[in-house]
Amino acid sequence: NKKVVLRRHVTGFPTEEDMEIVDDTAALHVPAVSTAAVLVKNLYLSCDPWMRGRMSKHDDGDVVPAPDFVVGEALANFMVGKVIDSTHPEFKVGDHVWGMSGWEEYTLITQPESLIKIKNTQLPLSYYTGVLGMPGLTAYAGFMEVGRPKRGDSVFVSAASGAVGQIVGQLAKIAGCYVVGSAGSDEKVHLLKTKFGFDDAFNYKSETDLSAALKRCLPDGIDIYFDNVGGATLDAALLHMRKGGRVVACGMISQYNLEQPDGVRNLMTIIPKAVRVEGFNVGGYVHMYSRFEEEMVEYIKEGKVVIMEDAVEGIESAPAALIGLFSGRNVGKQLVVVARE
Ligand code: NDP
Repeated sequence: NKKVVLRRHVTGFPTEEDMEIVDDTAALHVPAVSTAAVLVKNLYLSCDPWMRGRMSKHDDGDVVPAPDFVVGEALANFMVGKVIDSTHPEFKVGDHVWGMSGWEEYTLITQPESLIKIKNTQLPLSYYTGVLGMPGLTAYAGFMEVGRPKRGDSVFVSAASGAVGQIVGQLAKIAGCYVVGSAGSDEKVHLLKTKFGFDDAFNYKSETDLSAALKRCLPDGIDIYFDNVGGATLDAALLHMRKGGRVVACGMISQYNLEQPDGVRNLMTIIPKAVRVEGFNVGGYVHMYSRFEEEMVEYIKEGKVVIMEDAVEGIESAPAALIGLFSGRNVGKQLVVVARE
């Protein structure tokens, strides 16, 4: 059972050396006495930015979404897997599931209630790491519930070609909005305009003045800024918010590896323009999952939402794939194919 284990707690930018692959030969089986355990073969592992927070050592009292990873133990995150043994009545051998597991080939899940059984097996199973999983729900809940779009709104999305951003942009088009995205390469900008249907897009790395880029793409201002990055992009977007605009604070990936967060200088602008800045955590929207899944499956089948995945092969590729999120190496939803069946 190969695993990706945390070798040491991380400060600053994570590196591949912070993790190591170990082969744990201990036999995995569902304990005979257990009444409710499931042994899962992990097929697709999801790489998500929030894993970075769990790689650091936090002090008591720090506000964290989940406990720190333990040095010497496997990392953990969302996966798509296949049940290969079960003593839980709801899960049968051969069922496909998604949920949390270790970053390893096989995981014994002792709380199978946390798993979701996959019914739409006609769609690619890997979609449950992205558009039909946690990032998709994040995009949907964040945009629809926190952003509350109105037809004709002008929307700006950062990290727009990523797992969350690509879905936000397409939901914005479905809602009748004008949508502009920023991304970190010309290839991604091209994708936004050609594949994902963004009205306009710019490469934030090659623009010398982010505020000027926003003025060029959104001369009448922004009604909804869906913020995935924080930092300089958030600061520039604040200058262009329209009266009554909404900043959906989804993530601030530009800050995750910094010892000292960048200062945001333009926050005061939210007062005269009565801008609502609201953070949210997808964990608070799990109750919406069924409605979201039904709607998103329809969009996918109708071709209204298209997906771009960046899949690397083999669990050995997982550390590099994870740290690649922090330099924008991924083009689309980053996942690791551990096995296909
Ligand atoms: P992505 O698939 O978008 O991958 C991360 C991307 O972030 C990279 O590809 C890169 O794209 C961009 N990026 C990396 N470093 C920087 C930087 N210093 N400045 C600007 N952009 C950078 O990830 P996700 O879609 O999974 O996540 C997007 C955001 O949403 C993250 O901040 C994440 O933490 C947050 N999130 C929040 C949730 C919540 O519940 N609130 C739930 C899930 C995600 P590029 O090439 O464009 O720079």
